[in-house]
Amino acid sequence: HAKAGGRGRTEHFSDELAAQLTDRAQLEVDLRSAIERGQFALVYQPQMSLTDGRIVAAEALLRWHHPTHGIKLPASFLQRAEETGLIVEIGDWVIAEVAGTIRRWADAGMEQRLAINISQRQLDHAMFFRRLRDAMHAAGAPARLLELEITETLAMHCSGDVIEAMAALRADGATIAIDDYGTGNSSVARLRTLPIDRIKLDQTLVEHIATKVEARQIAQSMIGLIHGLGCEAVAEGIEAVDQAEILRVIGCDVVQGFAVAEPMDEQTLIAWSRGGDQSEALAS
Ligand code: C2E
Ligand code: MG
Ligand code: MG
Ligand code: MG
Repeated sequence: HAKAGGRGRTEHFSDELAAQLTDRAQLEVDLRSAIERGQFALVYQPQMSLTDGRIVAAEALLRWHHPTHGIKLPASFLQRAEETGLIVEIGDWVIAEVAGTIRRWADAGMEQRLAINISQRQLDHAMFFRRLRDAMHAAGAPARLLELEITETLAMHCSGDVIEAMAALRADGATIAIDDYGTGNSSVARLRTLPIDRIKLDQTLVEHIATKVEARQIAQSMIGLIHGLGCEAVAEGIEAVDQAEILRVIGCDVVQGFAVAEPMDEQTLIAWSRGGDQSEALAS
């Protein structure tokens, strides 16, 4: 219970609200120590070409090995990390980790790109692109194997400076993807001006394509639009083989989702890539 002002009125927080506030505060404390104690890890989810079945890239996804709660997904902590600005430090860790992974893959002759997710707060930092470049240099990681994913919403609002920095990174060989396309309200005019290579159709746009004609027609139109913009179309969250087959027929270039593979740790992904399991994934 908290006393409000000096008027003797007592405001009663509901137990639930009080508990939520404690949870939020605790989460912030836990996030800070997670960085210091090295509790973050990355898992990698492969992206498969619908043209030849090859694995062309993998997306790095953040996991938190919490000492008491087990493995936590981004949905449970990312928003708090963004509100507190801790995402900047976490993001720097992600960048360093991914740069190291890219170097190891390049050394092993693996030509898959590695995609990382970037949030608004990271792009707000003027030095972000400099730090990214430094991390890649320090690891000896070739830029051609790096892809940046920025959400559609973020892409609509980023500054001219950010666009310039993206273009420079792209000139070095990196690629840029628009993430969660179809969930924000982007303008095609704006998309045309952005230095981008790939557009990822959000899961919500492809989940019903196997059962609903309209869903399939909409997906097909959007793939046409993406190609019209000179980009490759990637479909996210493909859970069934029949979705992938339809996507191939309607011209989608690449798929990512549980139907291909779930996100895996680095060693498992390397073994999986070499084992040829990936050709079985969508072949059945
Ligand atoms: P996203 O970038 O759109 O990533 C795709 C999400 O869909 C991932 O969730 C992935 O595990 C999940 N997914 C993949 N295939 C399927 C499928 O077939 N079905 C379903 N239902 N889900 C599938 P995850 O790993 O929980 O990440 C959630 C979001 O958190 C990501 O969405 C991304 O926006 C954000 N995120 C993840 N890692 C990072 C990071 O390192 N930095 C930043 N800033 N954001 C990150
Ligand atoms: Mg993503
Ligand atoms: Mg996405
Ligand atoms: Mg998403």
